[in-house]
Amino acid sequence: MIVELLNTGSELLLGQTLNTHARYLGRRLVECGLRISRQTTVPDGPEIQIALAEALARAHVIIVTGGLGPTSDDVTRDIAAGLLERKLHYDPAIFERIQERFARRGLTPPESVRAQAMVPAGAEVLTNDHGTAPGLYLQDSRGTGPSRHVFLLPGPPRELIPMFEALVLPRLKAMGGPPIAVRILRTIGIPESHLQERVEAPLRARFPEVEIGYCARPGEVDLRLIGASADTIQRAAAFAAADLGDAVYATGDENLEDIVVRLATAAGAHLATAESCTGGHVADKITSVPGASAIFLGATIVYSNQEKTRQLGVPAELIARHGAVSKEVAAAMAAGCFERTGADHAIALTGVAGPDPGTPEKPAGLCFIAHRSMRDASVKRHMFPPDRPAFKDAAAQAALDILRRRLILPPGIKEKSC
Ligand code: ATP
Ligand code: MG
Repeated sequence: MIVELLNTGSELLLGQTLNTHARYLGRRLVECGLRISRQTTVPDGPEIQIALAEALARAHVIIVTGGLGPTSDDVTRDIAAGLLERKLHYDPAIFERIQERFARRGLTPPESVRAQAMVPAGAEVLTNDHGTAPGLYLQDSRGTGPSRHVFLLPGPPRELIPMFEALVLPRLKAMGGPPIAVRILRTIGIPESHLQERVEAPLRARFPEVEIGYCARPGEVDLRLIGASADTIQRAAAFAAADLGDAVYATGDENLEDIVVRLATAAGAHLATAESCTGGHVADKITSVPGASAIFLGATIVYSNQEKTRQLGVPAELIARHGAVSKEVAAAMAAGCFERTGADHAIALTGVAGPDPGTPEKPAGLCFIAHRSMRDASVKRHMFPPDRPAFKDAAAQAALDILRRRLILPPGIKEKSC
């Protein structure tokens, strides 16, 4: 069954509104055993006609979003009726519902709203409990092939989502099959190309029917496994996870910070951060997790040399000798944070965030991350992307990963520093 999504709206192409419908509908369709094979975005107006005609020539299910409102740029209903050769008729029941909505706010609807009560012949009306424009479902059995199903849904997410859940999803479930099995292995510390080199050939040899994909984010790569059978995907995921070891930090929707908070809570361990180049980003991630207050003591943001000395006791002479971005200063920051907060695990970051290129010895992207606990002390040198947002994100992820690895380490094992 070929499914296409047509999102309409000039604001989506002007970069003013993020197309959240594509993400939401994509996810929900997978649960119905259906996959969107093509997604098109077109501006309001005649482009819709061309895009819908093309989709009708290819797909069995077409979901169109937006353009059902009362304004002159809302033309989806007319275009769909024209292409499917259906006459539009006025449905007084729809207009009454609209009148009631207006009346509740002490208003009378303008004449233009009548356009929303026009229904193509044979269409099913999908009631809109959160707005005026109803959705429409049209089945098209012209021609010799299988019939096509066209859903016209309103643009506003707060109208589309409940309508889709209540009135479209059950229909699609009946048309689709069992949910498509998708498993994501979230990995950290292995670059995308290395990850592929390591897992792809063995996975393909053993599970030829499994579709393999990769999705890279700063500091992380998701390995995506897709297949028709949940059991095969489960076995393929276990196979890849065994090879990748603790580089896999999650197999579901959990973020690194969720895992760190979960592990620290289970271990009864308290955490603290000392942050220079990340400006509190690690702490921000940790404190975004509900329940973080039980394990997070606090963050010291020490951007200047003076504050590194004043708040963490990093000797000024150490900074003068090695520079603020150095393994020695990172270690001293972690030690100061560990001693002053009483945390079980202290993490410290100092680096060159960019975009200024820095110096040959200390280029943009360079970052030292130090960890200190009762059991061990370590410092790692990293090179992250030299642009600020990506740098901060990658550095924060690496710091969280150090905490994760320390929290899962069996007692008595020490991590080596570098
Ligand atoms: P209205 O009755 O409000 O005119 P409509 O069905 O005609 O509804 P649009 O005019 O296309 O829909 O969009 C209405 C609102 O929904 C706008 O704020 C728009 O930005 C938002 N919207 C439309 N499409 C999307 C989308 N794909 N993702 C997120 N928001 C969207
Ligand atoms: Mg509109």
